[in-house]
Amino acid sequence: MSEVKKDIRRCSKEELCSFFVTHHAAAFHGNQVYEWLWQKAVVDFDQMTNLSKAHRALLGQHFTINHTDIADVQHSDDGTIKNAVRLFDGKIVESVLIPTKSRTTACVSSQVGCSLDCNFCATAQLKRMRNLNPDEIFDQVATINKQSVEHFQRPLSNIVFMGMGEPMMNYANVMKAIAKITSPEGMGMSPRRITVSTSGIPKMIIKMADEHPRFKLAVSLHSAVEETRNKIMPFSETFPLTALRDAIQYWYSKTKERVTYEYVVWKDINDNAAEVKALVAFCKHTPSKVNLIEYNPVGNDAFAQADETAIDQYVAALSKHQIPVTIRRSRGKDIDAACGQLANKTKL
Ligand code: SAH
Repeated sequence: MSEVKKDIRRCSKEELCSFFVTHHAAAFHGNQVYEWLWQKAVVDFDQMTNLSKAHRALLGQHFTINHTDIADVQHSDDGTIKNAVRLFDGKIVESVLIPTKSRTTACVSSQVGCSLDCNFCATAQLKRMRNLNPDEIFDQVATINKQSVEHFQRPLSNIVFMGMGEPMMNYANVMKAIAKITSPEGMGMSPRRITVSTSGIPKMIIKMADEHPRFKLAVSLHSAVEETRNKIMPFSETFPLTALRDAIQYWYSKTKERVTYEYVVWKDINDNAAEVKALVAFCKHTPSKVNLIEYNPVGNDAFAQADETAIDQYVAALSKHQIPVTIRRSRGKDIDAACGQLANKTKL
C-alpha cells in the first residue's frame, strides 16, 4: 500500500496532541513535537530526543516532514551569503543573509518565480511557478538564523520579504509563516523586526491593515507618475496610483507606522524634475521615507542606473520637504544576490 503521508508541519498543536491520544499515548507528546518542529526547527523525527523510539517510529509511520534542503551556498566578498533552497518537489528558491556590523538580516522568498511583471526584475522573468508553503518560508528564516550563529556568532535580527515573489500574491501563507516566526512557541521574533515588501496591491494592503499587523511595510514605488509606472511595472495598470496612495494612507491610519518607498532611479526613465516632483507630492500624503536603491543590471537594455546628479536631485528635493531618504548600496552583487537579481542562475 503506497499511501502518501501527511506533512506533519501542516498539523496544528491540537491535532498533534489528539494524534497521540488516538494512539493511546499522553497528549503532551504533541506539545513536545510542536516544539521540536517550530522552536528547534528539526527536520527528522529521530532528532526529537525526548520522545521514545516507539513514538518516533509511530510518527514516521504516519507523517513525513517536507523540509527544504540547501542545494547550494555562495559567499560574497562583502559577507553576504546566498542560499539556493531546494523544496520538497525539487523546485528552487533563493534566500540571502545580509550582515552588517551589528545586524543580520534575512531576505526571504515568498513564491517560486513571481506573479508580477516588473520589467527590471530578474525574478519576474521566471514567471510564477507556485506559492511557497508557510513552512518553506519558515525554513528559509530558520536556516539563516543558524548560519548567522555559525558565521557571525549572533542570531538573526531582521527579516525582509524582499526575495523572490510578491508576498501579497501569497498572502495567507506569508501571514502564517510570520505567525510561526513571531510566536513565542515558534522563533519568538519581534514583528517590529520584519518588513513585508510589496510592489503595491492596494486591496491587499487594506486587508493587511485591517488585520492589525505589527510588522513594517515597504512599497516598491519606482515612479509616482502613472504612465511611467505602468510602463516599467505593467501589472500596475490595474491599480491606479490614487488607489495605492489611499491604501497606504489607510495602512498608516491603522498602524501609525511610516511606510518605506523603494525607488530606483533609471537613466531616461525617472531621472527628470517632473518625476522628482511627483515623488515628493506622493510622499506628502502619508508619513514615509524613501530608500533609493542602486540598480542591479539584469540584462534588459532599457534600464540603466541614472547619473549621480539625478540621485542628488532626488535627495535634495526630499530633504527639503523633510522626507527621510537613504541611499541603499547593493550587497552581494558578485554572487547575484542583490535586489532583483534572484533568478536561480546557479546550475545545480
Ligand atoms: N515583489 C515584492 C518583493 C520583492 S522586493 C516587491 O516588489 O516589493 C525586491 C525589491 O528589489 C523591490 O523593491 C524591487 O522593485 C527591487 N528590484 C527589482 N529588480 C531590481 C533590480 N534589478 N535592481 C534593483 N532593485 C530591483
